[in-house]
Amino acid sequence: MGIIFDVQRAALHDGPGLRTVVFLKGCPLCCVWCHNPESYSFHPQVSLNIERCRLCGACADACLWQAHIVSVGRHVINYELCDACGACIDACNYQALQIFGQQTTVDELMPEILADLDFYRASGGGVTFSGGEPMAQLYFTLALLKRCQDEGVHTCLDTSCYAPQDAFTRVLPYVDLFLIDYKATGSELHKQLTGVPNQTILSNLEYLYQENARIILRCPLVPGLNDQPDHLQAIAQLGIKYPNLQGIELMPYHNMGSGKRSRIGLPDHLSGLKTTSPDVIENWLTQIRQYGYDAIRVG
Ligand code: SF4
Ligand code: SF4
Repeated sequence: MGIIFDVQRAALHDGPGLRTVVFLKGCPLCCVWCHNPESYSFHPQVSLNIERCRLCGACADACLWQAHIVSVGRHVINYELCDACGACIDACNYQALQIFGQQTTVDELMPEILADLDFYRASGGGVTFSGGEPMAQLYFTLALLKRCQDEGVHTCLDTSCYAPQDAFTRVLPYVDLFLIDYKATGSELHKQLTGVPNQTILSNLEYLYQENARIILRCPLVPGLNDQPDHLQAIAQLGIKYPNLQGIELMPYHNMGSGKRSRIGLPDHLSGLKTTSPDVIENWLTQIRQYGYDAIRVG
């Protein structure tokens, strides 16, 4: 059993071909640019879309724990009181509330994954386990990977690589392609931007590479946060150090996650930051090529 917050079918950007992406909930990191902030917590969470809210107060009446504070022109949720029972969601007639996070089992998920088997075969696709951090629910992820391998489904694991090496030893035989994030250069900056230092991540990358895992390195880049020349140079150096990578992709910042943060009561540190312009992306690509790595591409 595990907890997920979404399943997207016919996805095109998380591995080759047409894919079903299973988003597992919970992550040991909390990247400031994360576009899935509902994935941070390992627990179900109520989300409030204030633009849909009519301030009718039905949710406050339904909540046994008085977690909703609805007054003139104002509606906030006290998340410390909420136990995610869902009563308020049923009470809202305006679809202003929803819950992120659903407990599920391997048996429940597999039919959804297998529903697109013909499309996977025709397109060279498969399933991608993403998050959140799928390695943080190791036994659930492992069970899913094994079942997918039994069914002949190509598997991608989208991971920050922040997990014990032994955990990677366990999943390695069942993962056809790792999508590994490389987020910042310098452990202190990495900790500042993601909440954790990066030594474990780099050592797991080295381990997986030496074990001949197929790996695409994905580098989220946010103007002003982690696009310094030393980071761009480090990306190029990783490409040179690991010539058998399946590729390195830049993931330019987009601001899709900003509205989501306020809906689950999180501050939005990057509010106002716009989606990265093509000029900025081109400049990043040029710099990385100048540092000696030509095969860089945009993911
Ligand atoms: S029930 Fe829905 S519309 Fe009414 S106050 Fe609650 S969230 Fe807003
Ligand atoms: S999910 Fe339950 S506890 Fe949380 S705010 Fe809604 S009614 Fe209250």
